[in-house]
Amino acid sequence: MNTPISESQRLFELAQGLMPGGVNSPVRAFCSVGGTPRFIQSAQGCLLTDVDGNRYIDYVGSWGAMIAGHAASEVVRAVEETLRRGTSFGTPTMLEVELAQEIVARVPSVEKVRMVNSGTEAVMSAIRLARAATGRNKIVKFAGCYHGHFDSLLVQAGSGVATLGLPDSPGVPCETVCHTLTADFNDLDSVQALFKELGTEIAAVLVEPVAGNMGVVPPAAGFLSGLREITVESGALLVFDEVMTGFRVSRGGAQELYGVMPDLTTFGKVIGGGVPVGAYGGSKELMAQIAPEGAVYQAGTLSGNPLAMAAGLATLRLLDEDTYRRLELKSARLKESIDELLRDAEIQAVVQRVGSMLTLFFDTKAVRCFSDAARANHARFADFFQNMLRHGVHLPPSGYEAWFLSLAHDDAVVEATLEAVRKSLHGSSVHSG
Ligand SMILES: *Cc1c(COP(=O)(O)O)cnc(C)c1O
Repeated sequence: MNTPISESQRLFELAQGLMPGGVNSPVRAFCSVGGTPRFIQSAQGCLLTDVDGNRYIDYVGSWGAMIAGHAASEVVRAVEETLRRGTSFGTPTMLEVELAQEIVARVPSVEKVRMVNSGTEAVMSAIRLARAATGRNKIVKFAGCYHGHFDSLLVQAGSGVATLGLPDSPGVPCETVCHTLTADFNDLDSVQALFKELGTEIAAVLVEPVAGNMGVVPPAAGFLSGLREITVESGALLVFDEVMTGFRVSRGGAQELYGVMPDLTTFGKVIGGGVPVGAYGGSKELMAQIAPEGAVYQAGTLSGNPLAMAAGLATLRLLDEDTYRRLELKSARLKESIDELLRDAEIQAVVQRVGSMLTLFFDTKAVRCFSDAARANHARFADFFQNMLRHGVHLPPSGYEAWFLSLAHDDAVVEATLEAVRKSLHGSSVHSG
C-alpha cells in the first residue's frame, strides 16, 4: 500500500496555476479517473518513484515509448556520449543515417524515411505527401483512431453512420475538416460506402493497424487486407499510423505482423526511446516527392536531433527476435492470468491484447470499434484504476488507453501486478454491487 501524496498534491496545485490543467498533455491530468496525478521523481526499469517516495509498477511507459524500460543502461550511455559531443547542429550527422538504416532494414514497406519531432508531425507530413502524390484531397480515418492533434484529423466520428467530419475541438475551422471522412474500425462496408460516393476524391485511408487510442482493438481478419484492396482499386494510398505499433508489436511493426504493406508509414514513440521524435517513410518513388528531392515542403530545425537519434538507435538495438518473443510471452501470461482472475471473481470484462499492448474493458463482449469501446463501463475502470494505484501499479489513467509492457517487466513484476489486480477487483466489486 502506498502512502500519502502530499508533495504531488502541492505540485499539482502549483502547476494548475501555471499550465492549463496543470499538465502539458491532457490525459495526464487524471480527468477521467479523478484524483491527483503522481509527479515523478525518477524511474528505473519498470518502476516509477513519485515525489512522495511511493513506487509504482509502470504500465504507461511514456505512452509506449519506453519499451526498453526506464533509464536502460544502453540508452543512457548512448545519450550521455552523444550529449558530450553537442546537442544539435542543424547539419547532417551519422546518427541520422544509422537510425534510417535501422528503420529501413526492419520495416518491409519503407525504403526511405524522413525524421521529424513528434508523431503528430509525422502524420501531418504523410498526409501532405499523400495528397500531393494523388492530386486528391479527402482522407478517410476511423472513429476512435488518434493521429495526433493537428487540425484536419481532429475529427471524431458520429457513431454508426459514416459521415462528413465535424471538428472535435473549438479552434478547428469546418473548412479544415471538410476533407476528412470517418468510417468505423473493422467495418469494411463503411469504407466501401465512402469510396462508392467519393472514391475519385480520396487521397488516402489512414489507420492505426492495431487501434490503440480507443484501448487496444485488433484488426479483424481481412480488415487490413480489405483496406489494401479498396485503396489499390481506387488509386488512393494506404497509410499505416504505426506511431504506437511500430517496433512495439513486432520487429517490423503491425505491417509485418499482419502481412499487409501500406504505401506510407508513420512512426514515433519507440523510435525516440523516450526523447521527442517522429518519422515517416515509404517507397523511394513516393519519398522522392519530399523536398529537397521533390516539391512537397516539409522541414524542421531540430529534426534528426542527435539525442533523439541516439536514444532511438540504442532502443532499437535492444529489440531483436528474442526480446520480442520474451515480451510476447510475458504479455500473454499477464492477459491470460487477468482473464482467470476475472472468471474467478465473476466479473464481466474482457482483456484485449496485441503483443505488449493490452486493455481491460469492463464489458461483456469483445470490443471491435469505437462505439463498442464507449459502451464499456468507464466508471468501473476509474474505480479499478484508483485501486491499482493504491496497490502500487500505475495504469494509464483512462479506460480508452493501452497498457504497455517493457523489457524490464520480469516474471516477478507480472506476479506483483496480478496480486494488485486480484485485490483491486475485490475492492471495486464493493462499489459496483
Ligand atoms: C501518440 C500517437 C500519435 C501522436 O504522437 P505525438 O508524438 O504525441 O504527437 C499519433 N498517432 C498515434 C497512433 C499515436 O499513438
